[in-house]
Amino acid sequence: MKILVATEKPFAKVATDGIKDIATKAGMEVVLLEKYTTKEELLAAVADVDAMIVRSDKVTPEVVAAAKNLKIVVRAGAGYDNLDLPSLTERKIVAMNTPGQNSNAVAELAIGMMIFMARAQFGGAGTEIAGKTLGIHAYGNVGRLVGLAGKALGMKVYAFDPFVADKSIFEKDGVTEVGSVKELYEKSQYLSLHIPATAETKGSIGYELAMSMPKGGTIVNTARKEVIDEAGLAKAMTEREDLKYATDVAPDAKEEYAEKFSKRYLGTPKKMGAETAEANINAGLAAANQIVGYLKEGNTKFQLNKF
Ligand code: NAD
Repeated sequence: MKILVATEKPFAKVATDGIKDIATKAGMEVVLLEKYTTKEELLAAVADVDAMIVRSDKVTPEVVAAAKNLKIVVRAGAGYDNLDLPSLTERKIVAMNTPGQNSNAVAELAIGMMIFMARAQFGGAGTEIAGKTLGIHAYGNVGRLVGLAGKALGMKVYAFDPFVADKSIFEKDGVTEVGSVKELYEKSQYLSLHIPATAETKGSIGYELAMSMPKGGTIVNTARKEVIDEAGLAKAMTEREDLKYATDVAPDAKEEYAEKFSKRYLGTPKKMGAETAEANINAGLAAANQIVGYLKEGNTKFQLNKF
């Protein structure tokens, strides 16, 4: 059986070595397609493989159609908006992600960006984050770690996530749950975004929410660019010169943001959230183990699509 590792942005070598090791022990073969630049290369590479590991690579209906033997695709990471679930489901190809494997890396980046903004991007005297309010928008794997780190740094932490099943987690973590998105933004001097990009959340963070933040309000986005209404946020930042935006997921209008808002805007040069050796290894190895688990034992623990 063949496992394709298709990564425009490759894993660290230690991660691909680990993936190969897991595959070999299970009697499977790994095919690497790294730093590919054309769709055609991907279409050719998927033609005869049984399984596939991707990072942010797009698994489109065209890719699915070209993958005649594909049984499982695993997104090494949390967000899976790059997988076209309807076409995978139609072909009864299992789609999985590797939740939690890169959460710590992303949470550390969010805190780092928050401090960098508080310190005026190291361009002058800044402020401290201790004693400030921090809002966690979506209390999943990453959000929770950011919340706990914020608490450890002396922040007062609020969270909004209506889908958390076990509500006792908020009390256990010393985090105050609020009842609406609006209330969260009104309370938060720092707001850390961790919602997935869904039909409901896309374009949902814009003018009104930004305008409702306290003085100096800073939004930190390590989630997805699509959740931001870019024009609306820009309008709020133009009207209120105290608002700041730091993002790991570049806006479409990144040049405009950089030019207009100067030090009130921060964009990482590339999506850096999961770019640590540890996250690479964790997510890559988890993906390989999940493929072996499914192909050998039918384990569907992290399956995203149902059929
Ligand atoms: P997760 O699945 O563990 O948590 C997502 C949380 O969002 C869940 O608790 C869910 O209940 C909540 N949620 C869903 N819809 C919501 C809504 N409308 N309002 C409020 N809460 C809602 O995911 P995670 O691992 O914490 O990752 C969060 C996001 O960060 C992912 O969607 C992914 O896109 C992004 N991410 C980015 C990077 C990066 O490199 N910057 C890396 C990993 C993940």
